[in-house]
Amino acid sequence: RKVDLVYTRVRTEEKLLLEALRRRDCAVNLVQDSGMVLSMDRQRDTEADTVLMRSMSFTRARYLATFLEMKGLRVLNSARTISLCGDKALTSAALAAKGVPMPWAFVAFDEDACLDAIDAKGYPVVTKPVLGSWGRMVARLDSRTAAEGVLSTRFGTGGAQDHVALVQEYVDKPGYDLRVYVIGRAVGGLRRRSEHWITNTARGAVPERYEVPVVHAKLAEAAAEAVGGDMVAVDLLETRGGDIYVNEINHCVEFARSIDETGVPLPDLIAEYIVSGAGG
Ligand code: ADP
Ligand code: ZN
Ligand code: MG
Repeated sequence: RKVDLVYTRVRTEEKLLLEALRRRDCAVNLVQDSGMVLSMDRQRDTEADTVLMRSMSFTRARYLATFLEMKGLRVLNSARTISLCGDKALTSAALAAKGVPMPWAFVAFDEDACLDAIDAKGYPVVTKPVLGSWGRMVARLDSRTAAEGVLSTRFGTGGAQDHVALVQEYVDKPGYDLRVYVIGRAVGGLRRRSEHWITNTARGAVPERYEVPVVHAKLAEAAAEAVGGDMVAVDLLETRGGDIYVNEINHCVEFARSIDETGVPLPDLIAEYIVSGAGG
């Protein structure tokens, strides 16, 4: 197979993916997203049949995947998956459409309307930017005054595209959340433990080994299917009562901080999936 690996920066992940693909006799070209200029026609300027989309920019990943698919290439993950996973409001809608269990959530476009809706639900709730990652600007609102502060910033700064509030049920987790990797099927996962309620490893949570039970694997696979994801990381929130919800789906799987703990050979699994010709 001929693969174009589209990247923003060649991180540990991209190095390991490149090696895993080359071990399987794939011809891999590294293509930096910033240098790509794509014409709006079906003409291809690559020999590749498959594109592994590893751009760290949602804007670039979504447009590039869309245009490369238009040119007839197999893109992993697909443009549809990237569009749905990159926007948390659209992820929630896709999950809801398939009846996948998730925290209750709503979207509002006006400060007062949002405050009224939160008041009706009761505190605490969580709000987060629809576009974002690594736990940035995820906020728990414990009171009306906290909500007023956060929402006045949300609606008083930025442009029209920023003036949307995603509000979720606050899930009182037992000190960790769970991540299940779905590469065609659930292949493993990790537990992220933290003293803080925000459990991103980018924010200091400690990755731990986690044998994924069948119910969690099935839930993660249902979530991946709801967004058409070929290779995704599905984040699950467990309640203290043992219920389990899907929180988000990450389309550009990061694993450098946790590869030792999980014992899941993600670069090999991803490379095998690409070689198999599945998905896209
Ligand atoms: P990001 O894309 O920035 O990782 P997440 O939605 O995954 O955004 O939120 C980051 C972290 O915050 C999660 O891993 C989880 O620990 C915590 N978190 C997010 N939403 C909730 C929620 N509704 N209830 C409880 N914890 C949450
Ligand atoms: Zn995320
Ligand atoms: Mg997350």
